[in-house]
Amino acid sequence: MTVAIARILLDRIVALAAERPDEEVCGLLFGNPARIRSAEPTPNVSARPADSFEIAPQALFAAIRAERAGGPRLIGHYHSHPRGRPVPSARDADAAEPGRLWLIVGGGEARLWLAEYAGRFTAVPLDIA
Ligand SMILES: [Zn+2]
Repeated sequence: MTVAIARILLDRIVALAAERPDEEVCGLLFGNPARIRSAEPTPNVSARPADSFEIAPQALFAAIRAERAGGPRLIGHYHSHPRGRPVPSARDADAAEPGRLWLIVGGGEARLWLAEYAGRFTAVPLDIA
């Protein structure tokens, strides 16, 4: 399994993370299981944004409503680790909803993960084109 993403989209997400070196940034990912087609930045409403994230519920619910109305398919989300590696943290594992794609930015690179059951993640190779 690989997931495709356009270089320009991936670069934009990495740049958004670099703009905020003191807090985690986050956003929603749309597309299908084989391709991330777009990303939408959302506010991080975590009480501790320096080392955690929580996608603004209004943005999440709006995306779900739009999908049900025939809009873009929500496949997962991205967030950054300003001082960490692009691998899921213990806190990420607690929040993981199985089946969602997690794109994590850290150290200037991005890696993709598939959330599995019981807080496990599987690394998913990105096909960058
Ligand atoms: Zn994280």
